[in-house]
Amino acid sequence: MTVHTAMPEDPRNGMAADGVARSDAQASNSAANRKLYKSRVPIYPKEVEGRFRSYKWAMMAFTLTIYYVTPWLRWDRGATAPDQAVLVDLARQRLYFFFIEIWPQEVYYITGLLIMAAVSLFLINSLFGRLWCGFSCPQTVWTDLFIWVETKIEGDRNARIRLAAAPWTAGKLAKRVSKHVVWLAFAVATGGAWVFYFSDAPTLFRDLVTGSASFSSYAAIAGLTFTTYSLGGLMREQVCTYMCPWPRIQAAMTDNEALSVTYRRDRGDPRGAHKKGQPWEGRGACIDCNQCVAACPMGIDIRDGSQLECINCGLCADACDDVMDRIDLPRGLIAYDTEANILRRMKGEKARFRFLRPRTALYAGVLVLVSAIMLLTLSSRHSLDLDVMRDRNPDHVMLADGGVRNAYTVKLMNRSDRARNLRLTVSGIRAREVEVIGNGLMGSSAILAVDADKVRTVRILVTVAREDLAASRKLDFILEDVAAAERRKAAAVFVSGENR
Ligand code: SF4
Ligand code: SF4
Repeated sequence: MTVHTAMPEDPRNGMAADGVARSDAQASNSAANRKLYKSRVPIYPKEVEGRFRSYKWAMMAFTLTIYYVTPWLRWDRGATAPDQAVLVDLARQRLYFFFIEIWPQEVYYITGLLIMAAVSLFLINSLFGRLWCGFSCPQTVWTDLFIWVETKIEGDRNARIRLAAAPWTAGKLAKRVSKHVVWLAFAVATGGAWVFYFSDAPTLFRDLVTGSASFSSYAAIAGLTFTTYSLGGLMREQVCTYMCPWPRIQAAMTDNEALSVTYRRDRGDPRGAHKKGQPWEGRGACIDCNQCVAACPMGIDIRDGSQLECINCGLCADACDDVMDRIDLPRGLIAYDTEANILRRMKGEKARFRFLRPRTALYAGVLVLVSAIMLLTLSSRHSLDLDVMRDRNPDHVMLADGGVRNAYTVKLMNRSDRARNLRLTVSGIRAREVEVIGNGLMGSSAILAVDADKVRTVRILVTVAREDLAASRKLDFILEDVAAAERRKAAAVFVSGENR
């Protein structure tokens, strides 16, 4: 007679029988309490097949393809700008993203994008739980990849547990060395791909191969190799549990109507071992086989309810579906469901999904608003701009002839792909004299040439007769491209020592 029952080992580390593990833990409890840090219990997740595992493979392929391919995509921006579609150009202080080019003065676009990303995360979290953590977070993707490598080299869960407990032999050494070498290869490839986002990828690749790249490129690759290897290969679930702030934050973003991977205790309890042929009446569908725990990359038991460690990867659901198939019960004992639905079913009510709730409406509203502002500002973006900074030390100079002089640093920005002659005018103050250092006196305005896709910095001296100071302490710098009918204005103040 077949007995559906618990596994004879601790499902988390498999090093001892379940009961023994608990009594060991109790025996060492007082000693453990005296320690400052709890040592890590190694986790050997069991390989599973199923819907969620397939989604995870697909997501891994998708995200890694984007990561590795993106720096090689080209985008024509004319002769004056690089043709790499996505590039953080530190030397020229530009961020290129296909048709968008962001200058340092436009850092608010980055702020807007970060706000959109954060609110999207809040919205997804309140609708579908930790989808980001389970399927697309880089930590999850690389850890998954590293566990796959480990499984291919050392074998599935039980083989890995046996190998860990076995004495060191040539065979064990060969497996361990091979695993770490492959991990390091993936880690180098990760760091190697990252630097291509900061320089022309084909040129940098050639320089890296020929050994002529800059020291900073090799240092960045080494740094990222180390972090990928240690975070994805060695620290794994500890990064999510102890280092990442998101599990704590997301708890405030969610409620019991949010979908998440859930053990259907309304269906599974009371749980216990089950012999083939025994009736199911009066008991739940969970046969306490611990396959869900053995599959969990975080080493937790989903049946204990919602936990900070759970990344919602769904691998426990795949493991349980397989068990349900084998004992001829319907799948979905562990499923994407809500805590509210479990309570409804326990009260005999019908399950339902409430996607429209105050918090989801709020997040969606904020997301639409921020996206609209971003679109509006991007579509009305100017191809010329100016930035004015008044000298602070000294902030004014008293001249022997009774005049007061202020100095300004003016940055003229030409964001177009052609050189332009721009007219700069100082207005709003009765100036006795305006001088562009290096260009001489400018009268009411001056024409200044600015190269394509460049910033030209000029120093301007404005002198006002003391008796005219009362007229106005404010002035405007106006930059115009008369041919293109484009005009930008920047306000400034004039300081004489009496108006501070
Ligand atoms: S929930 Fe499913 S996989 Fe987990 S112990 Fe119960 S029957 Fe086994
Ligand atoms: S409990 Fe299930 S969903 Fe949560 S991390 Fe473990 S396997 Fe993934």
